[in-house]
Amino acid sequence: MDNLIFNAENKAGTKNTIQSIKKYLLKKQVLEFFYKEGNKTIAELSDLTNNSVPTLTNVMADLGKEGIVKNFGIGESKGGRRPAFYGINPNFGYMVAIRLSRKNTRIGVFNLQNQPLCEIIEISEGIHTSDNVLPMIKQHTDELLTKLNLPYDKIIGFGITIPGLIDIRKGISYSYAQFANKPLNELFTQLFNRPAYIEHDTKAMALGELWFGLAKEKSNVLLVNVGSGIGLGQILNGNLYRGHSGFSGEFGHIQMNPDGELCYCGKIGCLETISSGTALIKKAQQLISEGKNSLISTAKEADLQEIKLKSIIRAAKAGDQFAIELLEEAGEYLAKGFSILIHLFNPEAIIIGGEMADADNLITDPIRQKLNKYTMQRLKQDTEILLSELKERAGLVGMVPVIMANYLNQSFDN
Ligand SMILES: [Zn+2]
Repeated sequence: MDNLIFNAENKAGTKNTIQSIKKYLLKKQVLEFFYKEGNKTIAELSDLTNNSVPTLTNVMADLGKEGIVKNFGIGESKGGRRPAFYGINPNFGYMVAIRLSRKNTRIGVFNLQNQPLCEIIEISEGIHTSDNVLPMIKQHTDELLTKLNLPYDKIIGFGITIPGLIDIRKGISYSYAQFANKPLNELFTQLFNRPAYIEHDTKAMALGELWFGLAKEKSNVLLVNVGSGIGLGQILNGNLYRGHSGFSGEFGHIQMNPDGELCYCGKIGCLETISSGTALIKKAQQLISEGKNSLISTAKEADLQEIKLKSIIRAAKAGDQFAIELLEEAGEYLAKGFSILIHLFNPEAIIIGGEMADADNLITDPIRQKLNKYTMQRLKQDTEILLSELKERAGLVGMVPVIMANYLNQSFDN
């Protein structure tokens, strides 16, 4: 499948007329409106883009011929002839989003109106558990696309999220998956022979919340991802904030206890060593093996190794006192961290995402209670503490607009 924009650029370049460049830019602008706001009439587009109705009729005819735009039927009349609605043809192409985590990988396929073509598949192999991550991903993607009867040339782009320190401008991952020290977006582009883009795991989750979740229609929202680690995605003034080098949001590595445990990052007493899923699992394993009674697990070694954050949350929901205390302690330190975030950013909301979002009020109650202790009242009252509704899907769906933005050669978040 041709890349519409690339061709348009060539056309604009060879003809080199101001008119053809203008038309090319207008096409991009129209597609961006369709993608962000849904179907529109030519009159509406005329108002939005400040172009005449005949110009837009002409552009719509071009985009219709190319197949990316289609007529969605006739709308209500506001007096006079009833207008036709145009929008992106959802089946012009497809987008594949991949979330690569430490211990698993998820893959989803979406049409150009962001609708999933199938359930998200989850593979229990990830960066830490697969010997060969790239062939593993390729094999599962091949299987999924074959099942959906989609050839690779119908995919407009692949979007891959990765945890750790990532410089997305250079495509380099500094923490994980440093395959051959090559930029990851190049490696994935080679792997699929299609354009591929990478994004930081938690930043993609924040984008997911901004486009499809609780941050929609909000401008200043923080997403705290509490899973095996703890990360922060910042939506500030409606845009994703990356920081000077792209490494913003290492919230899990601020020090909470100067006499605490050594973190894998090399520092002592990081928030991650206290409130992350990994920290809670470690503590549960240790105390249960020392004789603590709990529904989380038996004290048998094999069972202890099977403890997940999920099992702790499940036990807490069943009323298990020890599991509830573990979440309370995690909540207290998260609240300390949140109070720093609230004082610094004055956000409308902090969304708790990742696996911890399943803990419901067993995590939000201790956080809200301790925020009273640590946060100035005037700031606290303006910040809602919310639980992600997208949960584990946030990172994956957050990649979908990233793929589209790259395809349209636009930036949606800056
Ligand atoms: Zn650390």
